[in-house]
Amino acid sequence: MRTIGLIGGMSWESTVSYYQVINRQVKLRLGGFHSAKLILHNVDFAQIERLQHLQKWQELAELLADAARGLELAGAECVVICTNTMHKVADKVEQATKLPLIHIADATAKELVSDKIQKVGLLGTRFTMEQDFYRQRIQDKFAIEVLIPEQSDRDFVHQVIYDELCLGKINSSSRKNYLNIIQKMYQQGAQAIILGCTEIALLINQNDTDIPLYNTTDIHALAAVDFSLNN
Ligand code: GLU
Repeated sequence: MRTIGLIGGMSWESTVSYYQVINRQVKLRLGGFHSAKLILHNVDFAQIERLQHLQKWQELAELLADAARGLELAGAECVVICTNTMHKVADKVEQATKLPLIHIADATAKELVSDKIQKVGLLGTRFTMEQDFYRQRIQDKFAIEVLIPEQSDRDFVHQVIYDELCLGKINSSSRKNYLNIIQKMYQQGAQAIILGCTEIALLINQNDTDIPLYNTTDIHALAAVDFSLNN
């Protein structure tokens, strides 16, 4: 088993999910008392969130690159950035060490390709929905068309992530609105929806809708386990 290096805390509410999914999967696959070999570098999300909204991506890249170097020194054998948004600086984090970086958008897009999804809706922070680092990567590398909600819906989705989900607040009226937004993208031709923020699965899951949902937290965590166990 290889040691997984997690950069978490963005927010810790979803890092808990990573920790559970990874350990449960290792137990499922190896049985008995097996659990994951992993090292977690947990950042202070207050600092991250402030720099994100100030658009200080260079500083953020340096922070996460330092975390990756620390994981490498501590014996990690891969790097997993436990958030979609911070994949904006994934290239810089990858360059900081010799370790492979398991990219959340690639792991998700591989699932979409294997399920023959050609047009997908994306929910996430405004950064993830509106900037190129995520959508364009999926479009260019995997030839999947990515739809995003209209402006007012994007603002709502973003606000719920920061004002509720990252603070551990689960609100049923927000769930209802998210499901409406998902329905609108489905009507525009999306065959499935990427839950492209690692906290969204705390609010909605596949039991809430018939439209196929791709939970990036689970997919990313399982990709890390594959790396760890498939030598
Ligand atoms: N965890 C979220 C994501 O997957 C948002 C928090 C963050 O900005 O990192 O994008």
